[in-house]
Amino acid sequence: MKILVINCGSSSLKYQLIDMDTETLLAKGLCERIGIDGRLKHEAAGKTKYVCESPLKDHKEALKSVINALLDPEHGVISSISEIGAVGHRVAHGGDHFSHSVLVTPEVKEYIKKYIELAPLHNPANLEGIEVCEKLMPGVPMVAVFDTAFHQTMPEKAYLYAIPYKYYEKYKVRKYGFHGTSHKYVSQECARMMGIPIENLKIITCHLGNGGSVTAIQGGLSIDTSMGFTPLDGIAMGTRSGSIDPAAVLYLMRKENLSVDEMDRILNKESGVYGISGVSSDFRDIEEAENEGNERAAAALETFAYRVAKTIGEYVATMNGVDAIVFTAGLGENSGPIRQLICSYLGYLGIELDSYRNSLRGEAVEITTKQSRVQVFVIPTNEELVIARDTKEIVESL
Ligand code: ADP
Repeated sequence: MKILVINCGSSSLKYQLIDMDTETLLAKGLCERIGIDGRLKHEAAGKTKYVCESPLKDHKEALKSVINALLDPEHGVISSISEIGAVGHRVAHGGDHFSHSVLVTPEVKEYIKKYIELAPLHNPANLEGIEVCEKLMPGVPMVAVFDTAFHQTMPEKAYLYAIPYKYYEKYKVRKYGFHGTSHKYVSQECARMMGIPIENLKIITCHLGNGGSVTAIQGGLSIDTSMGFTPLDGIAMGTRSGSIDPAAVLYLMRKENLSVDEMDRILNKESGVYGISGVSSDFRDIEEAENEGNERAAAALETFAYRVAKTIGEYVATMNGVDAIVFTAGLGENSGPIRQLICSYLGYLGIELDSYRNSLRGEAVEITTKQSRVQVFVIPTNEELVIARDTKEIVESL
């Protein structure tokens, strides 16, 4: 069965077509600048890369161009839309209603709509992606895979905030957590690489990209995670502040006479390592600036690594131990120096990095020595594959 995986952002659409009989990637691509001008980048196994700059007015136009690319005699990989057996959609927020992926029904769409309040930037685009696919591919089953679902196993003591309970009851203000498909995938891969059933393991997964979160996974279940009600909470990120004393936010709003929207922008778009360094939100630029002696760049990296290490420490306490730590996503997979900086705080766990293995790129690898008491891994994430696997499972059970 061939499954199309769709990840719609507000002005972008990422896609992959995967042959699930062999779990091989047939084609992947990205539509950017939807509603601005429009660009489609498409690559297929064994074919030349294809870039098409043409106006993409909305997500419908974008998806049409994706289908055209997939059908294209020169760059495409299928000869008819009917070859697509199902579509798996990444959906950011499933609230506390979805603890698993589900077949999209009118009721499911209502819930996705309801949770727009909780994910105003992502859920509208995700819903749009589903509705456009339904129109362009009538009869093809659609599956929704939620970023929050994996964290629904968190106990109440982990997800409740210490604010008046009525706000939880009235508005469901609580911790939800994100990057669920990634944390789930890398923890399962980690257990597989260790050759130990995941039920017997305590794993801490660090998804460090532009956004970042750390999760405590006990027996294969998420029991705590660093992102919260929104993806703003937790560790410092590219442009997001992560956790901050809420009183500091109130203080700044009063001092600088900031509106809610302005403060929202500052915390989400102007903070994190970008905010501290003043250089960039991209860790590559910050590492380069640090190498050139930029002190604020160094402070940003130190603060970032310190906070990740502190969160790992929290989760060691939460689980009363840890067997393995996993690094994944853009930064986690690619930056040996950042991994080393984080692990430099973890000597108490008996962690010993193998510097050669820590310098490897692009493959799933253990980066600790044989003597290390806790194993540390780098495992490239593959959220699309998780989405495709869930989609296949649901469609086959229909
Ligand atoms: P997201 O999906 O959250 O946008 P990614 O997981 O793609 O993010 O990660 C992107 C980030 O990873 C970039 O902003 C960059 O900071 C970091 N990154 C990627 N490659 C490297 C590298 N070689 N060295 C350091 N940082 C890197």
